[in-house]
Amino acid sequence: MSTTIFEKGTAGKSGSFIPANDCPVEDLGFAHPRVGEIGLPRIGEQDLIRHYVELASMNYHIDKGMYPLGSCTMKYNPVINEEVARLDGFTGLHPLQLEEDVQGALELICELESDLCEICGMNAFSLQPVAGAHGELTGMMIARNWFRRRGEKRKIVLVPDSAHGTNPASVVICGFTPKTIPSNDAGLIDPDVLERESGGDTAVLMLTLPNTLGLFEKDIERIIRIVHDAGALVYMDGANMNALLGIVRPGSIGVDIMHVNLHKTCSTPPGGGGPGSGPGGVREHLAGLLPVPRIVKENGRFFLKEDIEESIGRVHPWFGNFNVLVKAYAYIKALGGEGLREVSENSIINANYLMKKVAVDYDIKYPGRCMHEFVASGRNLKKFGVKTVDVAKRLLDYGLHAPTVYFPLIVEEALMIEPVETEKKESLDHFADVMAVIAKEAEENPEILHEAPVTTPVRRLDEASAARSPELCWPGGECMPGED
Ligand SMILES: *Cc1c(COP(=O)(O)O)cnc(C)c1O
Repeated sequence: MSTTIFEKGTAGKSGSFIPANDCPVEDLGFAHPRVGEIGLPRIGEQDLIRHYVELASMNYHIDKGMYPLGSCTMKYNPVINEEVARLDGFTGLHPLQLEEDVQGALELICELESDLCEICGMNAFSLQPVAGAHGELTGMMIARNWFRRRGEKRKIVLVPDSAHGTNPASVVICGFTPKTIPSNDAGLIDPDVLERESGGDTAVLMLTLPNTLGLFEKDIERIIRIVHDAGALVYMDGANMNALLGIVRPGSIGVDIMHVNLHKTCSTPPGGGGPGSGPGGVREHLAGLLPVPRIVKENGRFFLKEDIEESIGRVHPWFGNFNVLVKAYAYIKALGGEGLREVSENSIINANYLMKKVAVDYDIKYPGRCMHEFVASGRNLKKFGVKTVDVAKRLLDYGLHAPTVYFPLIVEEALMIEPVETEKKESLDHFADVMAVIAKEAEENPEILHEAPVTTPVRRLDEASAARSPELCWPGGECMPGED
C-alpha cells in the first residue's frame, strides 16, 4: 500500500522555490495573521511526481483499459477537448466579469445550446444543470410550474420500472408522487398498461430512453400520444443520448422536456465523480420556464436576461460547469452531424456484437436487439455458488474494469455492460474471452472467484462500511476511525 504524501514529507524539504515578496504588504483589515506552520507536506519535486504517478498507476481509468460501466458511458475523452478547455481565454474567466468582456464565452454557451436543440429537436436548452439528476430535477420543476400556472393539480409522475434510479428521486424531491409502470416480457412499456394508469391526475411520464435494459421503446409514438391525450407532459431522460445521436430527435417525436448528460454523450467520462453537465431542453410551450439567466443575442452581441416572469429561477450559480461545456462544444464541432450519427451507430454495433459473444456463457433476459448497452445476468452461475459480484471482482484480476452490477433491479444478478463506440473489435473480443474464462472458473474452481481480486492494491472492500463510516485523515492529525 502506498503511504500518503503527509507520511512521505520531511521537515525542511521543498520542491518549490517561491521568490521573496517584493511588494509592499497591505493590511486589508480583515485577514487573520497566520500563526505557525499549517502542516503542508514538505517534499522534493521528483518525489512529488513519483507519488502522484504511483497513485495514478494504482487507479483504473479510461486511458488504461476498457471500462464497460453500463449507463455511465466511459468512453475515450479526446485530448484535444482538454487542450481547448484549458485555453487561457477560458480558464482565466471570472463569472463576475462584465458581459462585454466575456462575449466569446457567452457565444460558446449560446451556440452549444442551439447545437443541442438541433441534435435533440427541442426549441430551447439551458446549460445550467451540472449533472443528469440535476437536469431531471430542473425538468420536474418546469413541469410543476407549468401545471401550477395553468391551475392544474396533477400529482402523479409515471415512472417505468426500467427507469434510471435517479428518476423517482427527482420526482419525490419536486413534490410529485411516482407511480411505477411495470415492464412487459420484452422489457418495454406495454401501451395498454400505460393507458390504464394515466388519467386526469397524471402530470408527467418520465421515460428513460433507451431504457436501462438498453432497449428502445418500440411503441414510443403511441406512448407519447397516450400521455398527451391525458393532458400530461412527456419527460425523456436522455442521459444516454449517445445511443440516439443523428438517429432520433426526441422533440420531433413529441417529447416535451428532456435532459442530456454531456459527460456521457460528448466524452468527459464521468468516473470518479468529476464535474458533469446535464443540460435541460424543452419545446416551445415550455421555453419561458427554463432557469435564468438566459443568454440572448441582439445586434450581434450577447446579453444575460434575468427578468423572465415564468422562469423557475436559478438552479446553479453562473452558467453551470463551464469547462465541461467547452469540452462538449469541441466534441460536437470536431465530429459534426455525420460524425455524431456514427458515434451512436458504432456504440449500438459494439453493444450488439459483445452481447452475442457474452450470451454464450451468461444469461441474457432480453436477447433482442439492444441499443448502446445490454444487461446480462450471472444467475446461471448460482448453481456453482458464484454470484455476479464475484465475476465483477475477478474481472479486476484480469486487468479489466467491471460492468455496472445489480442494476437494473428487474434483472436478477445483473451485469449491465456498455462497451461504448470507441473500443475496437480486439478489445471487445478480449473482454468476451475473459468473461468466458471466468464462467469456466466458476464451474471448475469457484474458490478463486470468491477470493478475487488478488492482484489489486486492495482486496475485497466492505463497501457498505466504506460508505457509511469512512476513515477520515487530515494533515498532521490522527486518522479518525468511522463511527457506525
Ligand atoms: C447517469 C444517468 C443519470 C444520472 O446522471 P448523473 O450525472 O450521474 O446525475 C440519469 N439517468 C440515466 C439514464 C443515466 O444513465
